[in-house]
Amino acid sequence: MTHVFHRHLRSTPPVADSAAGMRIRDADGRSYLDASGGAAVSALGHAHPDVLAAMHAQIDRLSYAHTGFFTTEVAEQLAHELMRSAPAGMSHAYFVSGGSEAVEAALKMARQYFVEIGQPQRTHFIARRQSYHGNTLGALAVGGNAWRRAPFAPLLVPATHVAPCYPYREQRADEAPAQYALRLAAELEAAILAQGADRVIAFVAETVGGATAGVLTPVADYFRAVRAVCDKYGVLLILDEVMCGMGRTGTLHASEQEGVVPDLLTIAKGLGGGYQPVGAVLAQGKIVDAMSQGSGFFQHGHTYLGHPVACAAALAVQKVIQRDELLPKVRADGEAFGAMLQQALGDHPRVGDIRGRGFFWGVELVADRGSKRPFPAALKLHAAIKKDAMARGLLCYPMGGTVNGVDGDHVLLAPPFIASRDDLQEITRLLSASIDAATRACD
Ligand code: PLP
Repeated sequence: MTHVFHRHLRSTPPVADSAAGMRIRDADGRSYLDASGGAAVSALGHAHPDVLAAMHAQIDRLSYAHTGFFTTEVAEQLAHELMRSAPAGMSHAYFVSGGSEAVEAALKMARQYFVEIGQPQRTHFIARRQSYHGNTLGALAVGGNAWRRAPFAPLLVPATHVAPCYPYREQRADEAPAQYALRLAAELEAAILAQGADRVIAFVAETVGGATAGVLTPVADYFRAVRAVCDKYGVLLILDEVMCGMGRTGTLHASEQEGVVPDLLTIAKGLGGGYQPVGAVLAQGKIVDAMSQGSGFFQHGHTYLGHPVACAAALAVQKVIQRDELLPKVRADGEAFGAMLQQALGDHPRVGDIRGRGFFWGVELVADRGSKRPFPAALKLHAAIKKDAMARGLLCYPMGGTVNGVDGDHVLLAPPFIASRDDLQEITRLLSASIDAATRACD
């Protein structure tokens, strides 16, 4: 009997035993091709020697120091490295232990910024439906997944949710992408005005949506349009790139492809590539300056902030990505991967949409392509695909169920950046077989 409090309490998952490169092996000797990098975490695959060496060296030198007493050389180096390539105007990196912690810290930084500059009446966040920002209460409050929020709704800080940028389902047939972007920006403006123009702290959005509706790539101009609305009312823009950032979409930050600069940027998964739990908030100088010239203190903190071994792992991961020129690889092979998926699944009667960038792809499943009708949530198609894929030795990241009253199933693919074209072909082949088998069983 297990004493681990697993996610699912009526079954115990296989025991992960060892891993190298693109593969994880379980205790029964089964080998799995990792097409999802866990949950879009693994950038370099498993057991990368340079990262392991950097972690060992750091453990031997200094395995822990509390940020209430010290900074460390490795945290300073990592912050320096991140600032070298950060969006314009960013000046500091705040290191935490994961994505939800990064989002919590960003929400509090945004709120404290307005307290420091004499606008304490700003108390409200605006975010998007069908989004995911983490499972702690602040992150859950801005998250737009009704199912995840439901049991905790009475505990959540106030937030309004506007429509996500979801062209496949929500762009009208007679609407050009630029018009769609403006319609969404107008909805955001109306939501700000409904709260009171000077009452909103920030608009929070994933630059490329991840864990709730499959990969949601925005239309061109969407982020420029919402940035303009935020600027009009002095509302901060918090971009959550915990999943889509740090190279996953082919540029270091996904927002680079949108032509916007956020006020706060959250990063996590790809930062440490799974070698250590680590995340960060990258902050604009004006926010840090307001605190340093005001109270002089960010009223937040955790025991493991800036953990030296986590920083060493992240620094090593980022150096390998640069040295091995993995971002151009992700762009080129990502395009090839998209073409492979299109070729294998583009005409599949149960595949409604295939979308993505770089090594971040989503496949949306439908019972009927013409009407885009999803499979009923009760069939749990996503769970069937996951199970079938694992039986074939493939790890992908299907999700689904009822989100905001809408049923839907998606498969998210986020292979490590080291995946070869043969790996991508194999992923496509196994996934197609699983989608075929699981959708046929649900017909
Ligand atoms: N934000 C986004 C966009 C995410 O995708 C996730 C996790 O999937 C989180 C935040 C939460 O990160 P963590 O699970 O590390 O707390």
